[in-house]
Amino acid sequence: MLLDELARLEDNPTPLRLAELPDPVPGEREILVRVLACGVCHTELDEIEGRMPPPRLPVVLGHQAVGRVAAAGSAAGAFQPGDLVGVAWIYSACGRCKFCLAGNENLCAEFQATGRDADGGYAEFMTVGQDFAYPIPGVFSPAEAAPLLCAGAIGYRSLRLTGLQDGGSLGLTGFGASAHLVLKMARHKYPHSQIFVFARSPQERAFARELGAVWAGDTAEAAPQKLDGIIDTTPVWKPVVEALKNLAPGGRLVVNAIRKEEVDKEYLLGLDYPTHLWMEKEIKSVANVSRRDVSEFLALAADMRLKPEVQEFPLEEANRALAELKASQIRGAKVLRI
Ligand SMILES: [Zn+2]
Ligand SMILES: [Zn+2]
Repeated sequence: MLLDELARLEDNPTPLRLAELPDPVPGEREILVRVLACGVCHTELDEIEGRMPPPRLPVVLGHQAVGRVAAAGSAAGAFQPGDLVGVAWIYSACGRCKFCLAGNENLCAEFQATGRDADGGYAEFMTVGQDFAYPIPGVFSPAEAAPLLCAGAIGYRSLRLTGLQDGGSLGLTGFGASAHLVLKMARHKYPHSQIFVFARSPQERAFARELGAVWAGDTAEAAPQKLDGIIDTTPVWKPVVEALKNLAPGGRLVVNAIRKEEVDKEYLLGLDYPTHLWMEKEIKSVANVSRRDVSEFLALAADMRLKPEVQEFPLEEANRALAELKASQIRGAKVLRI
């Protein structure tokens, strides 16, 4: 399914076109993957509608691809034909800069994204460097594994960046799909930690308690105790300021949002140094994912038997899946079956 030109979905409800392309040929250190399933992500809408435009068109979208190794380049011996592998948002990085050498290749200036800078998984075949493909644990079907490769891996990175130790207290502000996942993985990885959730809607707060949060309150409420780490998954500023208020000395707020909206920016003027920043509080954003995040998260997810609910669409109905995603008709993660 090819994206030829950028447009808002309202103006062009079928931005992707079914096309016949030659099978891609793997380079020396690349593998050819016969894609079986590819998750559908909000980022695809950002690409199609021009908020995160691909550098060249046409392009094949899709950065949560799972498939079987079909062939390998002459210097690519890491996988056997038939192995089930996944490809995530990180498609490649330079491998030589200080970020790459330190395992933070998500920060590399030459970071390339799957399905944006290179053709992705909305296709029967794709190629990827063997170092940027991950074995998929046997407990998952391709459709179950696909949605884990984006939200799950990035949620894992945000949890890792809090620097939380088991027993430390964790807050989550915003309680959408990615925060649900983080709550579940935090409970598994840090069984002695208590989790506090800040969410606007009473339904979300009730759901948070059901999933094991010890406390759930509104965005601006004070938690019953100060928290060592808080993860913000909202698109606005109020939760950032309110979360800083709830941090313990030395605590860290991790902002897991690609961009923040301007609507409530004046809230930042309420930032009060002694209340919100004093006592060595830190703020850190999350950008992309590293390979370590994807591998560690897949292992954790297998250990937890974390199986997302999925709603499958045939590849040629990718436009319908995207339209439903945009209309927030969420019945589990949407996955294209190829
Ligand atoms: Zn994504
Ligand atoms: Zn680099």
